[in-house]
Amino acid sequence: MSSSNQIPKHYNANEVEERWQGVWRDEDNYFDPRSKKPRFIIDTPPPYPTGNFHIGNALNWCYIDFIARYKRMRGFNVMFPEGWDCHGLPTEVKVEETYGITKNDVPRDEFRAMCRELTLKNIELMRATMRRLGFSIDWSNEYITMMPDYYRKTQISFLRMLKDGDIYQSEHPVNFCTRCETAIAFAEVAYAPRETTLNYFDLDGIEIATTRPELLAACVAVAVHPEDERYRALKGRKLKVPFFDHEVPVIQDRTVDPAFGSGAVMICTFGDKQDVLWWKQYGLDLRKAIDLQGRMTGIAGRYAGMPSTECRREILKDMEEAGLLIRQEKLEQRVGTCWRCKTPIEILSERQWFVRIHHDDIIDAARRIRWIPDHMRARLENWVEQMEWDWCISRQRIFATPIPVWFCGQCGRMILPAEEDLPIDPVLDRPSAPCPDCGSTDCVGEEDVLDTWMDSSISVLNVTGWDGSGVPALFPAQLRPQGHDIIRTWAFYTILRTVALVDSHPWDEILVNGMVLGEDGFKMSKSRSNIISPEEIVEQYGADALRQWGAGGASIGSDIMFNWNDIVAASRFQTKMWNIVRFVLQHIKHADLDDPAPASALADRWLLTRLSETVDEVTSAMEGYQFDRALKAIREFAWNVLADDYIELVKGRLYEGGAGRASACSALATTMDILCRMLAPIAPHFAEECYHHLQGSSVHLQAWPDFSFSDDSAIRQGDLLVGIVAELRRYKHDAGMALNAPLGTVTIYHAEAIDDAGDAGRALNAAVVWRTEAPQLEQVVSDTEFDMSVVGPAFRKQARAFMDAVRALPEEDLRNPPEKLVVDGEEVAVPEGAFAPRLSYRVAGREVEVLTVDDLVVTIERSA
Ligand SMILES: [Zn+2]
Ligand SMILES: [Zn+2]
Repeated sequence: MSSSNQIPKHYNANEVEERWQGVWRDEDNYFDPRSKKPRFIIDTPPPYPTGNFHIGNALNWCYIDFIARYKRMRGFNVMFPEGWDCHGLPTEVKVEETYGITKNDVPRDEFRAMCRELTLKNIELMRATMRRLGFSIDWSNEYITMMPDYYRKTQISFLRMLKDGDIYQSEHPVNFCTRCETAIAFAEVAYAPRETTLNYFDLDGIEIATTRPELLAACVAVAVHPEDERYRALKGRKLKVPFFDHEVPVIQDRTVDPAFGSGAVMICTFGDKQDVLWWKQYGLDLRKAIDLQGRMTGIAGRYAGMPSTECRREILKDMEEAGLLIRQEKLEQRVGTCWRCKTPIEILSERQWFVRIHHDDIIDAARRIRWIPDHMRARLENWVEQMEWDWCISRQRIFATPIPVWFCGQCGRMILPAEEDLPIDPVLDRPSAPCPDCGSTDCVGEEDVLDTWMDSSISVLNVTGWDGSGVPALFPAQLRPQGHDIIRTWAFYTILRTVALVDSHPWDEILVNGMVLGEDGFKMSKSRSNIISPEEIVEQYGADALRQWGAGGASIGSDIMFNWNDIVAASRFQTKMWNIVRFVLQHIKHADLDDPAPASALADRWLLTRLSETVDEVTSAMEGYQFDRALKAIREFAWNVLADDYIELVKGRLYEGGAGRASACSALATTMDILCRMLAPIAPHFAEECYHHLQGSSVHLQAWPDFSFSDDSAIRQGDLLVGIVAELRRYKHDAGMALNAPLGTVTIYHAEAIDDAGDAGRALNAAVVWRTEAPQLEQVVSDTEFDMSVVGPAFRKQARAFMDAVRALPEEDLRNPPEKLVVDGEEVAVPEGAFAPRLSYRVAGREVEVLTVDDLVVTIERSA
């Protein structure tokens, strides 16, 4: 308990936040495996260690931290793990850039070591930002996917699914980036609009339209629509491909669009997904014209060795010279590109590893999960339903989990390691036994590595304690928080993997957050220079202001536009709350907190009822992960109800002392305690600082408020009291009076007897009388008002005499002006609108002013 002299006048967010971060202990946030409390395990997203914990991450982690802190206060044994999804292309590319090498210039091991070193450095940078933002992460449950302890589990999961037949290898067309020299999954293909040329050329007498002339060497058929009159005669014929001279069949297929191009389509292996479908359906030849580096292969004849773009130019030139090129048109098309480097992808057929997709099982599992917001589930289901190919999990890269498989050098049999020997790198390690089929000790290790989603899609198995067999003790997790941009990757793959490995859905709930947009409403990007870093916000306003922005910015699932005004508003709210705390500390003493007198005065009971309603609202909002709703309720209560209404009303009573003071102190002590606790998940440093000043202990060790106070008459009468006082303060203000100026006697007529404990009188500096009878108001004409713009022109010099004559009229005539009037002895007409009576009220013969507040009459007899 501090006295208010010790509490600084201004709240210095950075000083306070850094001080508490130095005091809080990591151990307080550890999940306790021996605890009997109900558990709440969060399958948090392992970020990619770029070294930059960006504002989108910050929003995501704010949500997670609000939930973790709230659930701890609700008595749960919470696990808020922190993973790092290390493997993958971006780090390899960064290393290649940094050292000016390509992955093949140094031994695999050395390249991996470079990647690991960079990753560890980046993780350290991101950890620092996370700590500065005050996230209550359970650092005892940290995992790093590139570490042997983790990728051992990735390898076990691979072997399990391989043995169950859910993983297989096959030569199959896959999306391939020839820049990155690796296969990529469908989810990693980014579509971009592009203008290209549609080339019409002569293929053995038939006009063909193609955007990919460089694939002519890979042409394996020509397709036409069966009812296209132009091509009826082609049925059963073979056509000779120019320059390459191989013959290809003509296929009739209803999916050909006769209206596109010439209506005759060249099928190549492979120009696009449709080619793959036809290739499979008609059992066509496979002609590989482009290799893994994007160069033309031997079957391209004189074009062999050229990059495909050069081949395109050359082949078009040759067509022109040979008189085969008929015409060219511009064409807008959407082209699939590599998510990482934006190179247009090729569809290449290579031996790859695949995970089988069981569509129905995944959709069943997804339906057993509660999706928040609900409509996000449709995104997953649509994705699953349109998937035609299995998931390609092999990559031709280095910094990744090795595929733990050897092949016998003699008989080709696949040789698998024992699970207890994992992790292994089959390129460096040898099998522990000779080939079981032929006894040869000669073997070849698989050089392909795993897609990094194979690591991260077992995050939930890892945190729930999976050891490779059975269902883990802590499975399933309670919650998966993640962005909507990775529903078709991380969410999808995780569900697929837990269905395959433990035959269950991975979590009870999935909470999907939106993206953070720049102040200009666009996605943050370097090229738009609209990037805001969390560090920039924290430096100026502190972490709690950023956290409040995260809570209040939008409802869960919606994208949030960043806005400095929200940060400033958050900081202002802290200033307001700080002033409230300082005020309260002037008044309440330890005794008030330890042994509170019951709150007995009307305003005090009213405050506690409003507080109780706020606790209900905030609790229900937190339960539904509606942080914007929770923060709004807290702010409205603190700012409007507590500061503007209640404290203004009871200030006088607090200074007066006695039982009235004790009642107010009790209400304030309860209110501040509960407000701090409700703020603790969202603004943990601020709530901690306030709570220490008020209670001398940590708010983060307190339970979530369980407070219920119901008093119907206190709500009804208190609303009335607050409304009247506000109205009379407005009256003073409009009358140009100081708010503390004496107001005289205020009589409030209300049928129900109300005891306000003198609060209204003190708040208004007036003698306030509450009366239950109806007011006996007498309306009198107290003065007459003349409209000189009417009187002047009508009477000129006689104006004064006219006005005197009017003033001399009986009251009845003032209320209902006569048509004529005698002025200076002559009768004159009274012009329309010349005067009006000013009415006033009297009660028992004394003049009063009358206000009506919600149908209720208040009279004011101003002091002289
Ligand atoms: Zn690429
Ligand atoms: Zn063998």
